[in-house]
Amino acid sequence: MTKELPSLEGPVCALPKSHKDRIVIGHGSGGKMTADLIRDIFYPPLSNPALLAGNDAGVVQLADGSMLAISTDAHVVSPLFFPGGDIGKLAICGTVNDVAMVGAKPLYLTASFILEEGLELSILESVVQSMKSSAEEAGVEIISGDTKVVAHGEADGLYISTTGVGELNPGLKIGGAEAKPGDLVIISGTIGEHGIAVLEARGELGFESNLESDTAPLNHLVAAMLTASKNIHVLRDPTRGGVATALNEISRQSGVGIILEEDSLPILPAVAAACEMLGFDPLYIANEGKLLAIVSQEDVENVLAVMRKTRYGENAAVIGVVEGSPQGRVLLKTVLGSTRIVDVLAGEMLPRIC
Ligand code: MG
Repeated sequence: MTKELPSLEGPVCALPKSHKDRIVIGHGSGGKMTADLIRDIFYPPLSNPALLAGNDAGVVQLADGSMLAISTDAHVVSPLFFPGGDIGKLAICGTVNDVAMVGAKPLYLTASFILEEGLELSILESVVQSMKSSAEEAGVEIISGDTKVVAHGEADGLYISTTGVGELNPGLKIGGAEAKPGDLVIISGTIGEHGIAVLEARGELGFESNLESDTAPLNHLVAAMLTASKNIHVLRDPTRGGVATALNEISRQSGVGIILEEDSLPILPAVAAACEMLGFDPLYIANEGKLLAIVSQEDVENVLAVMRKTRYGENAAVIGVVEGSPQGRVLLKTVLGSTRIVDVLAGEMLPRIC
């Protein structure tokens, strides 16, 4: 007996359906495919000025003139525990940092948990303890939450979504569209540790790097920076898609060119070695405790001095300059003297990194 085949319109192709029809892993990269998804699926029906600003947190003004920054993040990292952190620390720091990246002071968080049937309670307890420590360090409180349980096999242990709210000084205007020609680009420290540390925890590195994830709350660093300058134009945490993707977003939002100096990029030797072996570019590796700041040239020394006195900014460095052109492009001046385009991440390099 022959099985009846479903009717197919048009030519039959052995290749999987394209990413235009279904979600593929690359839609979670934080790079070009994520941006396309947001532009095509989310922006048209949900459009409003705060959303369309395209920053790490949405900013709104209340009737009394006060300003709020609100951000939300889902965390699906695998494995749940990795050197330097775990999903709980990541869930607090990721949201605290996104609220801080518009210059706001994060105050309160909410957390929702998707738990897989069979998850050991001791694992959940450790994750929640870790959330407590990170929230204390950041000076925020988790004031509401939710738990849902799905059947065994319908999730991978534990996913956490966090939402954060912070208050914003109405005089501040920090966002991806504020970079100006002549500004300098600062990175708060060495890049690429988080992505490589998670890869190693998955047993996919092939050697021991002894690297730890940089996961950290950056709100106190941001607060210190804001005391040093009124001319901080952009703040962004280069998480998924790394420094390359974050700077490409900014170059497009601001309509400027960003020129990076390869020999200024702070990269630990172990990250450089891992990238070399795996064929990765550290500019695309996720960070969870670093920020990029685009600052007026005249204030850069003041900002750097303040950053270097803080725990998470001691290796802060200038890595590039903002220019009028090429608009929407990031270029890298290499140590060999050539210049190359640094594009956004096209697909997915390291899924479930955060
Ligand atoms: Mg962010």
